[in-house]
Amino acid sequence: MNDHLHRLRNICVFCGSSAGEDPRHLEAASTLGRLMVRREITLIYGGSRMGLMGRLAQTVLDEGGRVVGVIPRVLLNREVAHTGLTELIVTESMHERKTEMAGRADGFIAAPGGLGTLEEFFEVLSWAQLGLHGKPCGLLDANGYFDDLVKLLDRIRHEGFMQEAHRRMILVASSPSALLDQMADYAPPPVPQWIEEIHV
Ligand code: AMP
Repeated sequence: MNDHLHRLRNICVFCGSSAGEDPRHLEAASTLGRLMVRREITLIYGGSRMGLMGRLAQTVLDEGGRVVGVIPRVLLNREVAHTGLTELIVTESMHERKTEMAGRADGFIAAPGGLGTLEEFFEVLSWAQLGLHGKPCGLLDANGYFDDLVKLLDRIRHEGFMQEAHRRMILVASSPSALLDQMADYAPPPVPQWIEEIHV
C-alpha cells in the first residue's frame, strides 16, 4: 500500500441527501464506501440515512468500516439521522457541524449531490485557498456528473479569478481509487506571507 495513505485516516464526504435520477450515482457511493473500508479510512459525513449519504454510510458499515455522522439537532429531530452509525455527533447549528466535520477530517471528497454538497465542498476549498488548512479536496466525478463544473473551474482560472496553484488544489477523478491516490500524494501550495501574518 502507498505509504502516504496512512495520512488519510478520516475522510469527510459530502454527497446528495437525495438519490438522484441515475442509479449509477448510488452505485458510485457504494464503490467509494467499499474502497474506504479496504483502505481503513473512517467516513465522516452529515449523518443522514437518506439518498447517496445513506447509501455511502450503509455500505461502509456493512463492510465492517467506521462511520462518524455529524448532524445538527434540527435535522436529527426531523428523523433523517442514521441510527446505526459507529458514532453520531449532534451539534447545535449548521456552522458548528461544519467546523466539527472539517476538524476531524484529513481530507474532503464531494461526490454527486446538490446545493448542500457544493456549498460544503466550496467552503472547505475556500479555506484551503486562504491556507487555513492544507488538506486534500477532491471531486469524485462519477459518470461525468461534475464535468461541467470542472469546465467552469477552468474558466474561472483562465479569466483570472483564481490562481493556477489554487486550481491545482481541486483534485478531480472519475474513480474513487484514482481520487484517493491523488489525495494521498497531495501537497498544499505554499501560503503567501501576508496570510501567515494575519494568522499569527
Ligand atoms: P444536498 O447535496 O443538497 O442533498 O446536501 C447534502 C449535503 O448537505 C450533505 O453533505 C450534508 O452534510 C448536508 N445535508 C443536506 N440534507 C441533509 C440531511 N437530510 N441530513 C443530513 N445532512 C444533510
